[in-house]
Amino acid sequence: MFSIHDEEKIKDLFKEKKIPPFRYSQLENAIYKNFVEDFLDIQTIPKELRELLKENSFYCSLEIDHIVTSDNGQTTKILFKTKDWLFIESVIMRHLTGRNTLCISSQAGCPMACSFCATWKLGLQRNLEFYEIVEQVYYAANMLYKEWTILRNVVYMGMGEPFLNYANVKKSIEIICNQKKLNLSNRRVTVSTCWIIKWIVDFWNDFSQTSLAVSLHAPNDEIRNKIMPVNKASNLETLMKTLDDYVEKTNKRVFYEYIMINWVNDDIRLARELWELLKGKLAHVNFIPYNAWEWTWWSFNATPRFIIEKFQKVLENYGVPSTIRATMWDDIDAACGQLASKK
Ligand code: SF4
Repeated sequence: MFSIHDEEKIKDLFKEKKIPPFRYSQLENAIYKNFVEDFLDIQTIPKELRELLKENSFYCSLEIDHIVTSDNGQTTKILFKTKDWLFIESVIMRHLTGRNTLCISSQAGCPMACSFCATWKLGLQRNLEFYEIVEQVYYAANMLYKEWTILRNVVYMGMGEPFLNYANVKKSIEIICNQKKLNLSNRRVTVSTCWIIKWIVDFWNDFSQTSLAVSLHAPNDEIRNKIMPVNKASNLETLMKTLDDYVEKTNKRVFYEYIMINWVNDDIRLARELWELLKGKLAHVNFIPYNAWEWTWWSFNATPRFIIEKFQKVLENYGVPSTIRATMWDDIDAACGQLASKK
């Protein structure tokens, strides 16, 4: 059995059964443009073909375990269960501007062990298959389609380190950005990583339009080592040098994620250090208010809003653009991996 998102395998099957190639376009149209949810409901292809597809492939491998929407209706968190009983999460964010963003997982669990994150508690369970990544996007796009709106942005910022599952992440981006499939703009897809050194050349060659976000979270090795163990293997200097090469090659802005944790990385002097690190670079900083969760509430707390604003002011004064990320999901177990960890 293979996934409905596996174009190559479906085309091989069609070839073997001497089914004319135009049938694939009809199938593709029904799945991705009309969101028909079962083979047997695809009226544009003959009944025998629908049955053949049902015998040989599957529509969706992920099961919905739990869906929770925030009180204001803006955020929906989906907990999926894989065939081998692992839990992964996606989050739909409906911005007031009408823009919809989906945050997806690329691994079940994560091996990177960032101390402020709920996902590390799971460890790495396994890499997700490309179709498990696509299914998260497909499910959200379908949900929004039923709400008479569309999915515009996808961020690989959920559970896992995307570059540790590069082949599947790559294939999933190719599918979701394919014009005949989910047709997302490459520019509106962002891959977020905390450790990119090894894969960056592949990434800039494969996806020169796709955005890159880097989980920075500290402007020096001392703090970064404490909260992100990966920094000990590959320090900030190496990271920044690699990013300079990336910018030179692509001429694209890098988004730096900076989670604001009280008394850990929010001393105002660090704002100046952050500026020193980023001055003259094609950079944009996203400040993310920390969401405490049950395993960390005693060691990590959210930075008060006025400190985040002061931090942002310092960067602004020195000409580094930044945004304070809106918190849209306080009431639905905000931290990445939190629902899955509970399971
Ligand atoms: S913050 Fe990202 S990279 Fe770090 S442990 Fe969590 S999921 Fe993994």
